[in-house]
Amino acid sequence: MNQRADTRLRNLRLAQRCGARNRAGQPCQCPAVRGRMRCRLHGGLSPGAPKGQANGKYTDGYFTAEAVAERRWAKSLVGAFAEKEKNG
Ligand SMILES: [Zn+2]
Repeated sequence: MNQRADTRLRNLRLAQRCGARNRAGQPCQCPAVRGRMRCRLHGGLSPGAPKGQANGKYTDGYFTAEAVAERRWAKSLVGAFAEKEKNG
């Protein structure tokens, strides 16, 4: 927190934006909490309960953490190949 005010404002402008939907259906776009995808109002400070069967709200099938991570990985691969294709 020893940054000058203009440096802090510039860093804030470059911050990851919150993608939570607001009441108008648009992304919130507040600066996300550092290292997270959501702002302080939309779960950035408290990302939820620990995962797993011991903590009640677990899912199976399409929405397990493993399945979601695998789809995210596959999507990143597609993006990487598309980027490679675009750049020659
Ligand atoms: Zn938000």
